[in-house]
Amino acid sequence: MTDAEPFWKTKALADMDDAEWESLCDGCGQCCLFKLEDADTGEFALTDVACRYLDHDTCRCTDYVNRNRNVPDCVKVKPDNIAALRWMPETCAYRLLAEGKELFWWHPLVSGDPNSVHDSGASIRGKAISEDMVDDLEDHVVQQLNAQLENGVPPLGAPPKDPETD
Ligand code: SF4
Ligand code: SF4
Repeated sequence: MTDAEPFWKTKALADMDDAEWESLCDGCGQCCLFKLEDADTGEFALTDVACRYLDHDTCRCTDYVNRNRNVPDCVKVKPDNIAALRWMPETCAYRLLAEGKELFWWHPLVSGDPNSVHDSGASIRGKAISEDMVDDLEDHVVQQLNAQLENGVPPLGAPPKDPETD
């Protein structure tokens, strides 16, 4: 006898309840990094600069309920818009499932450990700074968005230096 398949393997995104939907977010914080879009090519470059509302330890929004009031262009991910959000990281659970792919081994739902997203290096913990400490986003481009994954972990590079200790 085998265990029942978990909900993310049996339910369509649109059929998930609120608790299931929210639990899909792995807490990587990558969607809260600023990206720069090349007006000519439409390509996105990733920066190591995070929204001021991001908690850099938990990699979660500090005011999730009011995120759209605090940051009007903070996009609410929904089943009917995820496919159009080209700037979402390839590792995002919503994007993976929308594309018919499996969650990575470090996703807390798979590992059973909420810290595995951080321990694996998949989250932005220790790799980003707040927009409040940055003058020019162009100085903080770290890679093209969705650069090659290594074992399911996006290579965000070394943690940025703290400008106050330079
Ligand atoms: S990229 Fe996806 S999984 Fe990661 S924090 Fe954002 S919504 Fe959650
Ligand atoms: S408001 Fe919250 S969810 Fe939106 S980008 Fe900022 S930290 Fe992320």
